[in-house]
Amino acid sequence: MNDERVTTDDARPAGDTSRQPKDFLRAMVERDLASGKYGGRVATRFPPEPNGYLHIGHAKAICVDFGIAEEYGGSCNLRFDDTNPTTEDPEFVDAIKGDIRWLGFDWAAERYASDYFPQLYDFAVELIERGLAYVDDLSESEIREYRGTVREPGRDSPYRERSVAENLDLFARMRAGEFEEGAKVLRGKIDMAHPNMKMRDPVLYRILKRSHYRSGDAWCVYPMYDHAHCLSDAIEDITHSMCTLEFENNRAIYDWILENTTVAEPRPEQTEFARLNLSYTVVSKRKLLELVEGGHVEGWDDPRMPTLAGMRRRGVTPSSIRRFCDDIGVAKANSVVDVAMLEHAIRDELNYNAPRVLAVLRPLKVVITNYPAGEVDWLDADYWPRDIEREGSRKIPFSRELWIEKTDFMEQPPKKFYRLGPGREVRLRYGYFIRCEEVIKNDGGEVVELRCTYDPETRGGQAPDGRKVRGTIHWVSAAHAIETEVRLYDRLFADPEPLAHDRDFKEFLNPDSLEVFAAKVEPSLAGAEPGSHFQFERHGYFFLDPVGSREGAQVWNRVVALRDSWARRS
Ligand code: ATP
Ligand code: MG
Repeated sequence: MNDERVTTDDARPAGDTSRQPKDFLRAMVERDLASGKYGGRVATRFPPEPNGYLHIGHAKAICVDFGIAEEYGGSCNLRFDDTNPTTEDPEFVDAIKGDIRWLGFDWAAERYASDYFPQLYDFAVELIERGLAYVDDLSESEIREYRGTVREPGRDSPYRERSVAENLDLFARMRAGEFEEGAKVLRGKIDMAHPNMKMRDPVLYRILKRSHYRSGDAWCVYPMYDHAHCLSDAIEDITHSMCTLEFENNRAIYDWILENTTVAEPRPEQTEFARLNLSYTVVSKRKLLELVEGGHVEGWDDPRMPTLAGMRRRGVTPSSIRRFCDDIGVAKANSVVDVAMLEHAIRDELNYNAPRVLAVLRPLKVVITNYPAGEVDWLDADYWPRDIEREGSRKIPFSRELWIEKTDFMEQPPKKFYRLGPGREVRLRYGYFIRCEEVIKNDGGEVVELRCTYDPETRGGQAPDGRKVRGTIHWVSAAHAIETEVRLYDRLFADPEPLAHDRDFKEFLNPDSLEVFAAKVEPSLAGAEPGSHFQFERHGYFFLDPVGSREGAQVWNRVVALRDSWARRS
């Protein structure tokens, strides 16, 4: 590791509490600004390959690349790293752009590595001319075999000593389409005994007779990541090229190529940070693609997916994702972040932004026998509890027939069950005390209705005689309730690290990750805007799904429960 770039010390001046302690990336940028290394410039890029949808791991990289540029008055390019014609698609380009904007970032310039194919080719020719690259006829498996191992040096390819003239000729003919795929590659001529295996003559170009979604059939040789990335950075005058740790060993190639081509100085520098791994999920485009293609989820935007599209559809707010990325910070060592931290950031925000309303997911009929049929009492109900200083209330109807939650009644309640049972009294939220007088069952012995009485003196939830009830339950008036679909999502995987086993990660999918209910919600929600958030009291935070909902047929997604139920389970 390059020591100069590593520091995690808090670089804040004493007494400055305005920000978190500076991380090593920001400390590096500040050192470079102070030394004038790039003439006071900060230019970063976010370089996704358009071969899938962005996920929460990318959000972290976006917050780093765009965030640092923003903080230091610099610029960040969006560069599609689209040098592989076999996997890329314009659908992904559009999705990626939408997701970045949704997160709240905008790019200085939209670039495509594929637009640099002519320059990248010229740089390859330059390496050949300097005697630093050669055309190799070894097959892919032979190249692997010749590369050696961590303990043993590799062997030189028999084609390694081709003359510059021969290499120039062969490379031009590769480009002209004279050879089949796999017949030849262009390799950097570095050192087959290098302790860093990546430096053992890396492949720079390969033949692929495929149409590219942008360049069409103009090319049949395509640059490898190691050739394209550093040079694209240089072409765009990037200063700080930040990427994840799996590229640490590629940094030597990055520097080698830039040192041996005529790119302007000061040259961009690569610095690595830890990738985000999140418990109970997978953050890899390839793995997520497997879930989509195998039909394990409904698509890239399935609300259980850790993709930005999935999270958006579920109702996760972009600000809570940015806040989460801020909270986890950047580090030099990979680790797994507890998904509960993400849920905490979401909850924290919605707690202050989501009005409280009443919804019954598993309805059980309650008939108030001493309340006249046909009458309605409109009760005042605040949207916010007293400890959150926000204004707003609505009226909710009380009538003879109500729905309550099945789970709020037990025929033989155990100790500490303070809700409804035969002969027991509870408070209806914002309403009256009711007492269960009679339990009606169907032929199968299932409780289908409760006959209750209400105490007219307890309107608003207090008894004038000072009598106490311990339980308060939510409810809705049966005649006024709106029928909706409510979807509860749970973690996609039942295992905290689905990739950490010697088995197919798909075996660890949580079979109960989706539960669908025909729920009854209070009438005030009839006019709710698609895309708005509410807290369904005692159930969690919900989002009116703008994609799934139809006029008169609402679909509510649970964004997150009120508490972390997994903490108790494990
Ligand atoms: P995957 O490996 O999941 O398919 P990728 O790394 O191939 O994704 P790219 O589109 O190539 O995805 O990545 C764009 C940028 O996002 C890169 O700089 C990459 O390092 C970064 N990135 C990808 N996954 C993560 C992650 N889990 N945490 C942080 N950054 C990430
Ligand atoms: Mg990758």
